Amino acid sequence: MTYTASKERYASMQYNRCGRSGLMLPAISLGLWHNFGGTDCFENGRALVQRAFDLGITHFDLANNYGPPPGSAEINFGRILKEDLAPYRDELIISTKAGYTMWPGPYGDWGSKKYLVSSLDQSLRRMGLDYVDIFYHHRPDPRTPLEETMAALDLLVRQGKALYVGLSNYKAEQAKAAIQILKELGTPCLIHQPRYSMLDRWVEDGLLEVLEEEGVGSIAFSPLAKGLLTSKYLKGIPADSRAAGPSVFLKAEDINEPLLIKLRALQDLALERGQTLAQMALAWVLRGDRITSVLIGASKVSQIDDCVGALKRSKFSPEELELIEIILSG
Ligand code: NDP
Repeated sequence: MTYTASKERYASMQYNRCGRSGLMLPAISLGLWHNFGGTDCFENGRALVQRAFDLGITHFDLANNYGPPPGSAEINFGRILKEDLAPYRDELIISTKAGYTMWPGPYGDWGSKKYLVSSLDQSLRRMGLDYVDIFYHHRPDPRTPLEETMAALDLLVRQGKALYVGLSNYKAEQAKAAIQILKELGTPCLIHQPRYSMLDRWVEDGLLEVLEEEGVGSIAFSPLAKGLLTSKYLKGIPADSRAAGPSVFLKAEDINEPLLIKLRALQDLALERGQTLAQMALAWVLRGDRITSVLIGASKVSQIDDCVGALKRSKFSPEELELIEIILSG
């Protein structure tokens, strides 16, 4: 059946300015790392993207290696774009990245100009796009000069293959240096994509300050700690959850009693606030306007509905914030 986007799609989503740029991003964005690969159910992925867009999620995040197999998430997203979202291309912010192993040999990994330029060309072909909105360097490369990697990002913008560029997984000092080089090249860094959740707060140790000073936006990945910060693991490991699946990034052993004690206490607070634990975890990452967007993943349409509900109760009292600190440090 032909997809027609909901007329209400802009009724309730919040859009935040990305640093000191002209671009607004939805407070909640959808990532296609899991559940969109060649081994996943295509129709489920399509339903997730359609539901997200109907709720005002205009930003979809990919990378060259998302799958499995690597590249297949971009192929599937390209099909969804062609079959469902083509009329809405100008309403979408599509990102992809290069930086992890993608093809064999010395040119399919890390941060050389050779790798970044070829990889974006491949991504565009897989998605059937002329350009992406944001192209990221996925992780810092300790051996390639930062000047070369940043020059590659600048080149791709000048070639019209990306509108904006971003950094991912760069630590504060590395980010500062890269942002400076991009500024000198005349292609300002739009955004940084770090991991950030109640269970992983490394960005608070300098990175967020750098981004604020430099006017660079931020999009927090794995804001639900890959699903841990939801109610799903409180009573065991459901068979259809990420921890029960083949993902090497979340294993059953990661769910232990000390963690469950914290999760139960957080769940009690969330229920007192009249929201789910997932909603509270997302609202917490967005607190204080330092984070432009939270980048969620989803395996079910109902999860997207739940997550978007976070915006209905996004403020915290000082007492609630303090209680969260106590729970997390317990
Ligand atoms: P999350 O922390 O949001 O975890 C998503 C998972 O949590 C879902 O797949 C689902 O897992 C579960 N979930 C989501 N919502 C709910 C809900 N409301 N109730 C119960 N369970 C829920 O993010 P991800 O780890 O998936 O990462 C998100 C995106 O971030 C990626 O798709 C990617 O775009 C980006 N990313 C970037 C990286 C980088 O290096 N730049 C690295 C990692 C991610 P389940 O399958 O168990 O249902």
